[in-house]
Amino acid sequence: MKKRIKCIGMVLFAFAIALSMSTGVYAYRVLGGRFVLTNGLRMTYEIDYETIQDEELIDIIHEAFDDWEWHLNDAVDGINMGAYFSHFMYEGRVADIRIRAVPDVYVDGRIYPARTDLYDANGRLVYGDDLANTNWVRAEIVIGYSQFNGLEPIEKKSTITHEIGHVLGLAHNTDNGTIMYDRVEGCTAYVPTLDDIEGVYSIYCDLLE
Ligand SMILES: [Zn+2]
Repeated sequence: MKKRIKCIGMVLFAFAIALSMSTGVYAYRVLGGRFVLTNGLRMTYEIDYETIQDEELIDIIHEAFDDWEWHLNDAVDGINMGAYFSHFMYEGRVADIRIRAVPDVYVDGRIYPARTDLYDANGRLVYGDDLANTNWVRAEIVIGYSQFNGLEPIEKKSTITHEIGHVLGLAHNTDNGTIMYDRVEGCTAYVPTLDDIEGVYSIYCDLLE
């Protein structure tokens, strides 16, 4: 109970700081819902090798998950969130997060390098306003080759890292120094920043202690 209070206190503290600074120390925004987890921040991911065969891209995907794991376990005031992203190898079971690629990815009629689809326990896509109050049990990161292949390698990595942020429940923000900045151009973050990590912590802190 004591630790739970500390967790809430930290969120309030972050909120107070954001209010007191005109620029806002914390930029993170959350979708509202979150991934339904039963064992802390332990998740499995699976790469669809039918549509993703490029070794460089496969390495980038692994690096993006490794970056999240490393930063989630290191960054917030010495708190280790116990995050563990396991590359799913077993046949016949569904991973929490699946990564696949298609020729073109669209969101609201606009073409993008990648998109994240979140599904609730009934298998329904959670999107729009429902993201604020619906939790999800499965996520798909969909890469659109036509736009994604035009990115620099470092931008490809930040794009995958950004999409994992959505899987975890982070929304876009307007700070180009964070991985959840809303566009690739001008984004200076290539790994999750303290701000992104604080956002994830605010979503799952009750599970982590
Ligand atoms: Zn995004």
